[in-house]
Amino acid sequence: MVTVQCYCGAVRMELTGEPLAQFYCHCEDCQAVHGAAYLPAVMYRIPATRLVAGEPAYWKLKTTVRAFCRECGTRLYAEPPGLGIRSITALLLHQGLFKPTFHIQCQHALLPIKDTLPHFKGFPAMFGGSDEQVSW
Ligand SMILES: [Zn+2]
Ligand SMILES: [Zn+2]
Repeated sequence: MVTVQCYCGAVRMELTGEPLAQFYCHCEDCQAVHGAAYLPAVMYRIPATRLVAGEPAYWKLKTTVRAFCRECGTRLYAEPPGLGIRSITALLLHQGLFKPTFHIQCQHALLPIKDTLPHFKGFPAMFGGSDEQVSW
């Protein structure tokens, strides 16, 4: 069991079991919402996540609902529509727990990230995508 919380501690969530996936997302939605080039994310099925303190506020820029703390503004997680999953901001994990295995939505990347992980142009096959990769 892993606990994540916003920076002020008002909202806490427990995560049970292994995540479905750990990755970096370069989509334009994450860029706009987080004001960042890309976002580290850890994905769980909704029933494997449990809010144990506080109640986040919800908001969406386009189609993906995003949860944040109404006190400190920390972005907690996103719920892409219809998938039954929560994509949690991996910055909230304790040091060393985030173990990314690929990059997604690299077609929108602001800059190439040169590492040894696969760089999917859109989504990998496990997310229903084409598995196509970019050259960097
Ligand atoms: Zn907070
Ligand atoms: Zn994204």
